Amino acid sequence: MSRDERCSLGDMNESVKTPFPTPSHWIDGRAVRGSGPLIDVVNPADESVAAQVHEGTEEDVNAAVEAALAAQPGWAATSPQHRADVMRRLAEGLQARSEELAATITLEMGAPIAFSLQVQVGFPVASTLAAVASAEQFEWTEVIENSLVVREPIGVVGAITPWNFPLQQLVTKVVPAMLAGNSVVLKPSETSPLSARMFAEMATEAGVPNGVFNVVQGTGPVVGEALSRHPKVDMISFTGSTRAGRSVSVAASGTVKRVALELGGKAAHIILPEADLDSAVTRGLAFAWANGGQACGAYVRMLVPASLQETVVDKLRTAAEEYVVGDPADEATRIGPLASETQRRRVDDYIRRGIADGATLVVGGPGRPEGFETGAYVKPTIFSDVDPESVIAQEEIFGPVLVVIPYADDDDAVAIANGTIYGLNAAVTGDEDHALAIARRLRVGQVDINGAQHNFQAPFGGYKQSGNGREMGRAGLEEFLETKAITR
Ligand code: NAD
Repeated sequence: MSRDERCSLGDMNESVKTPFPTPSHWIDGRAVRGSGPLIDVVNPADESVAAQVHEGTEEDVNAAVEAALAAQPGWAATSPQHRADVMRRLAEGLQARSEELAATITLEMGAPIAFSLQVQVGFPVASTLAAVASAEQFEWTEVIENSLVVREPIGVVGAITPWNFPLQQLVTKVVPAMLAGNSVVLKPSETSPLSARMFAEMATEAGVPNGVFNVVQGTGPVVGEALSRHPKVDMISFTGSTRAGRSVSVAASGTVKRVALELGGKAAHIILPEADLDSAVTRGLAFAWANGGQACGAYVRMLVPASLQETVVDKLRTAAEEYVVGDPADEATRIGPLASETQRRRVDDYIRRGIADGATLVVGGPGRPEGFETGAYVKPTIFSDVDPESVIAQEEIFGPVLVVIPYADDDDAVAIANGTIYGLNAAVTGDEDHALAIARRLRVGQVDINGAQHNFQAPFGGYKQSGNGREMGRAGLEEFLETKAITR
């Protein structure tokens, strides 16, 4: 690849004078300028324009799909071990450029730099290696009596991803999709498109053949919809809001393609009466506010025995002092800005709504934190005595807003935890057997007991309106495979 074609981060974006490439799509193994207008990529820490990317058009989608279609049979004909080796090299590439990737993610969506390095980039490296391990252990064929059951790639996969974990969300789709022998057209979020573009270069450098992985930048209603309805796209794997997931399902229905949806969440963290409250509170708050609360699995509802609510709230007030809002480029910052001004307004509105609906404000509140007149900053906020049916306890806020809900007994806790349209994940803290019994009653795709660490081999996905399908591990690979039975 020539320097011109790579158009790497060292090149200058002419119009906004930042070191990001303007030729923003990646089609058939090279940077493509596209014909659409430019979209500003705004640094949420100071509202400056960090870069611009071209807004993709239906023609760009068609070009990427044709490239993917042409490349897929050759890629599917390679051995699973070859594809695993390429993906392992890709993980090494991500690791080697982790600092640059972390800085890019911090710039495009505001995650504190230490978190970006450890989680926003650390998780994608770990997820890629875990997906490789799953593929290496996978039984690609099976004999059932006189039938040979073979697992085959679906074909061309369209992937649509959100801005909150821009690299992790794309890796959990495109790596297993490519391991399975599919080709991919990715539409990253228009809010955080830069890391995806870097990933495309790294995939090519790792040995992904031209056309097997493509990126078309742009908006949901144009590029996302065009991909979802495209007759030559065999599957859509979507991560984002439940609202957009519904639109994707509708657009995809005309061609009856497979649709996998990873949607919103409203996780309950149930603290059982026997739990060690200090660690439950510290950990619970950390999981509620990580990434500024912009995580589908954030523990945003803390369910506590009514008799312990006052003690828990005191401990939360103390624990919250550790979370000083700051510049995301500062290594010490634990809470940076939200990803965008739109998100700041949305979260601020929810905080006002909580107060209007009568919840007790413990820390934070509406408005900007002192000293942050520009940037998408909000005050990390905790409410107690929250009515489980109220808006702030039911809707996905996607910001650093924790609601404490008192419960009477186990049945009440389970009913409250299950009492939203979502069913992505939950957490339980307490005696392990007791916690396990509660976990079995929750209508969610995963439950963490006593702060268990993320398991990259375990399936991840939602019940109810949190979506369908699973990512990660063996289930995440099967998601991108067709099954054929050949009977003799
Ligand atoms: P969003 O739904 O606004 O956008 C997600 C992606 O979908 C973006 O690329 C967007 O451009 C695209 N899109 C929007 N409308 C579309 C349409 N009509 N057709 C096709 N594509 C469309 O979500 P967001 O604000 O970027 O991200 C936050 C949401 O993502 C939250 O709801 C969060 O819970 C969810 N999320 C879920 C998971 C999970 O694994 N379940 C993980 C991370 C984020």
